[in-house]
Amino acid sequence: MTGLKIFLENIYERILELKRNDKYKKCLNCDCYFGLLYYMKEELSKMEARASGEMLKDIISTFNKRKEGKIHQCLGCDLCPPAEWTTELIRKLR
Ligand SMILES: [Zn+2]
Ligand SMILES: [Zn+2]
Repeated sequence: MTGLKIFLENIYERILELKRNDKYKKCLNCDCYFGLLYYMKEELSKMEARASGEMLKDIISTFNKRKEGKIHQCLGCDLCPPAEWTTELIRKLR
């Protein structure tokens, strides 16, 4: 369980970096990105509230603020980072 938390924190760090990178702006409206947030939110909710606090809050608010009309299917992005990370996360959960 602790391993999973560290892993989720690591993905969260990568998301923050992605947000700072103009090259990946389009990925922040990609359905892969919201799929990833959804998985993270689900897993974090199962953990002790204290353990996941700020990260969970941020993920939930980003997820809830999504604008359905703006979300597009994956553009491929020559490896879309959120899609890659979702695959990593799913592998971890097995
Ligand atoms: Zn993308
Ligand atoms: Zn994508």
